[in-house]
Amino acid sequence: MERRKFLKNSSLGTVGIVSASALASCKTENKPEAPMTISTPIRPITVCTWNFHNATAKAWEVLNSGGTSLDAVEQGVMVEEADVTNETVGKGGRPDRDGNVTLDACIMDKDGNCGSVVYLQNIVHPVSVARKVMEETPHIILAGKAAEKFAYEQGFQKEDLLTESTRMQYGEWLKTSKYETTINIENHDTIGMLAIDKNGDIAGACTTSGMAYKVAGRVGDSPIIGAGLYVDNEVGGATATGVGEEVIRTVGSFLIVELMRQGMSPQEACEEGVKRIMKKNEGRKDFQIGFLAINKQGETGGYCVHPGFTYREYTENGHDNKEVSSFYE
Ligand code: ASP
Repeated sequence: MERRKFLKNSSLGTVGIVSASALASCKTENKPEAPMTISTPIRPITVCTWNFHNATAKAWEVLNSGGTSLDAVEQGVMVEEADVTNETVGKGGRPDRDGNVTLDACIMDKDGNCGSVVYLQNIVHPVSVARKVMEETPHIILAGKAAEKFAYEQGFQKEDLLTESTRMQYGEWLKTSKYETTINIENHDTIGMLAIDKNGDIAGACTTSGMAYKVAGRVGDSPIIGAGLYVDNEVGGATATGVGEEVIRTVGSFLIVELMRQGMSPQEACEEGVKRIMKKNEGRKDFQIGFLAINKQGETGGYCVHPGFTYREYTENGHDNKEVSSFYE
């Protein structure tokens, strides 16, 4: 269950001050809406779903050298996309039920710009293609074969994403599954990552191979802005992992950011997000949903449906290591 952890890697260092005026305002006699400035030390931080500590280490490296949160989240999740031992993201991700690895990813920056690719094949780094969609086209989402063609035009290389291990597992699945896609708590694990940089700006990224042995053509929540990922630089960011259909039905990440805007802490907002989903699924315990959120002050929260979920947080200098059980009952 090692991967069933959210991992946070943060610095205790204070490198600046952010004015959270967007979060509060007060009336004065002559100026009806003068902003009330709440000064909060800027604390660069990166946080990601599950125990993808190599990814947060990479993102931290970028932040720590003064890089932007956008670069940090892209480079952070790229570590998992390239890691063939991670069978839920990028190269080495498990295929759909026809044996094709199809990837979904998105990225969002401090200005609300975003890019996404869905059903992308033969490319190791869908998050970087999503960033190209954001930066090089007037669009937000590119899909399938055309997204792949766009990737080649942008200089990405074609690569077989199946590995010996996933090819073998797929062969076994074909023998026992009757070609039926089943929802369970184990056959998925997306990386969603959020970061705040030294300027106090928030960005996020989310990338996945989706549910293993999904029906061909299926797209989950992970590349859908508002569902698998949402960032509002005035408020915070949120990302999701688990059964994408349920996250989409609740527009999960957008919901969580809006709940934080209304005053909830990241933890409270994630719990409310999970509760909304469970309300629509009374009595069900056969699927997994995890939300992760960060607010403008760098506070984080995570919450999950499945009992036994833990998330671990630690800081760069080794202080504050702890594991916290937090799940829906
Ligand atoms: N959310 C992803 C999807 O539904 C899978 C996961 O996070 O495990 O495609």
